[in-house]
Amino acid sequence: MSNETDRAERPSVLLISVDALKPEFVFKQEERGVNLPNISHYFLENGMASEEGMVSVFPTFTYPCHQSMITGANPAVHGTVNNGIFDPAGEHLGAWHWFANKKVKTLWEAAKEAGYWSASVAFPTSVGAKGDFIAPEYWWDGSEIDSLFIDAVARPQGLITEMEQEIGGYAGGLDLTDHGDEQRGKAALWMLEKKLAPLAGEKPFFMSAYFASFDESAHQYGVYSKEAAASLEKIDRMLGEIIGKAGEITDGHLVVCVVSDHGSLDNTHNIAPNVLLKEAGLIEADEAGKVISWKAFSQRAGGTAEVRLADPDDKESAEKLAEVMKCLEEDPESGILEVLTGEEALARGGFPQAAYVLVSEKGYEIRDDVTGDYLRTTLTQKAQHGYSEKFPEMRASFMITGEGIGKGRITDVHLIDVAPTLAAVMGAGLPDAQGRNLLK
Ligand SMILES: [Zn+2]
Repeated sequence: MSNETDRAERPSVLLISVDALKPEFVFKQEERGVNLPNISHYFLENGMASEEGMVSVFPTFTYPCHQSMITGANPAVHGTVNNGIFDPAGEHLGAWHWFANKKVKTLWEAAKEAGYWSASVAFPTSVGAKGDFIAPEYWWDGSEIDSLFIDAVARPQGLITEMEQEIGGYAGGLDLTDHGDEQRGKAALWMLEKKLAPLAGEKPFFMSAYFASFDESAHQYGVYSKEAAASLEKIDRMLGEIIGKAGEITDGHLVVCVVSDHGSLDNTHNIAPNVLLKEAGLIEADEAGKVISWKAFSQRAGGTAEVRLADPDDKESAEKLAEVMKCLEEDPESGILEVLTGEEALARGGFPQAAYVLVSEKGYEIRDDVTGDYLRTTLTQKAQHGYSEKFPEMRASFMITGEGIGKGRITDVHLIDVAPTLAAVMGAGLPDAQGRNLLK
């Protein structure tokens, strides 16, 4: 079979990430008070889905997870180890790891190399992705300035301006509301109709898309709140529209994979390890709690925190830090489940630059505050993730349907399997992927 024939026979592929969607919402809809007719139709009745859920990566935090989803590699390998850049003193002005990694190949690049049109809408960690049509997730201040910046970093440049003339404002990464997702849904439909449909005769497409509002409603109101349920039902309606449109364009020559990045659980406490590091003389802060200088600092990733030494060769600070870590580990009231050394964290796939990694008990969200009490019952967010990837509550969703995909349940699924599975469907190569092809 020639490459040309082979290519023409391969299906288009849609990968849609629904942030924090837990398998129980898919499989126990009535019990969880949601009605998801499109997920039921496409995946439970006519596709494959994992009921026990998919094991996420370490940490179970949105940006590391999404880069793992699109590369098949663990965070320590692709280098997107947290949402925010490690930045104790705020020198990077709150910057996140918005960028597609440059160490290992992404599915966007692999798909393009395999002869696909490669597209993305609002997918986290997609700035600079090597695809054909990339509308990335990025923000500056949540104002209309965001559109200008996103347009400047989109591929091709000018894509967002063109899109916004038809759908209104493209949702920057700060708008995580139902309305923001409505715009993400419109943007995905626009991409399909205006960019991919006219080219569908030439070659198949790979498109990734993303919805944020279920996760955000859970953060604000709780995992099992009516608000989170309502956000999810709206997402299900948009999934129906997007899958329907993609099916129409490809004449059913299509594979659709709907996944999430991690699960979530309700918080009970906030804990702030930096308060203890400050007491130990490892952090200096002003009265407002702003860090002036630091020798060791703990940066949050939800239910996990990365602790770094400013200078790994600073023995005195390393000893003081070891003392604080020992106290947290030994104190049954600390809310800390595990204190990992850097090597132990690396062996779990995360934080290659850490001196230690703190993994908290269920419900104890780790915060970055350097002042106030270490342990608080006042919560910043009602629900959180970033907790141990070993907790069943952190399991993510995996569902796949379409041409050549069977029906039934699938087990033993890991987040790093998503990219190798879709790469296999497309005949694309992901040399650094650590996961496996689930369809083999
Ligand atoms: Zn997430």
